[in-house]
Amino acid sequence: MATELKQYLRPGVALPFCPGCGHRILLRLILKAIDELEINIDDMLFVSGIGCAGWIPSPHFNADTLHTLHGRAIAFATGAKMFNPKLKTMVISGDGDLVDIGGNHLLHAARRNIDLTVICANNMNYGQTGGQVCSTTPKGAVTQTTHGGSPYRPFDLCKLVNAAGAAYVARYLVSQGSVLVNSIKKALQIEGFCFIEAISPCPTQFGRQNRLDTPRETFKFVERMCITKEDAEGLSPAELEGKIVTGEFSNGRS
Ligand code: SF4
Repeated sequence: MATELKQYLRPGVALPFCPGCGHRILLRLILKAIDELEINIDDMLFVSGIGCAGWIPSPHFNADTLHTLHGRAIAFATGAKMFNPKLKTMVISGDGDLVDIGGNHLLHAARRNIDLTVICANNMNYGQTGGQVCSTTPKGAVTQTTHGGSPYRPFDLCKLVNAAGAAYVARYLVSQGSVLVNSIKKALQIEGFCFIEAISPCPTQFGRQNRLDTPRETFKFVERMCITKEDAEGLSPAELEGKIVTGEFSNGRS
């Protein structure tokens, strides 16, 4: 962790993430965005739900954090924001928490354009509980509950949230460091519901079950699925099958 970012972490609290986990990178990128914008972290509230990504802010950020019930991070964040509209409120949680368990909160907060920055760390499975299938698991991927490969196509979270009316929607891989930092910075400066899907590979559960023996192999596997919005333009639905398109999908509507 860079020295200038250590000030944002509670001293003496070890990060719980497995070696090579994307969430560790994401934590650093979020803090970097806050640092570059020179936001006083004491003016922020971080809200998370249950799952590996819920541990990104809580208890590690040296700031106000709410570690809430499974699927309810956005509901808690909405309540805090209504009580104190000036509070810069960021939700950081996983795909299972925000989309599967808490999907309705996500959709309706986007529809209402609640002024929140939501970062969804998408690790493509329920990592903390042993690697079960979820709605973002790629079709064909092996999980603890789909030994023959998931038969379903995954949700396109950005399309979902965009259609619901969010002000800002983007998706990037955690390995796209500075691009993702810039996206987080942008989201923090836009009023309204801002949603960033951060694709955050999980070597321990997703990787191992898909015979990806190292974090590097897991990252490469996920990176191969990704394609930029620009490169995806003009490709047919059949050519885009199984691809994850990265980029900005809505920018600053309010
Ligand atoms: Fe990261 Fe996966 Fe380990 Fe959870 S189980 S900390 S997502 S590598």
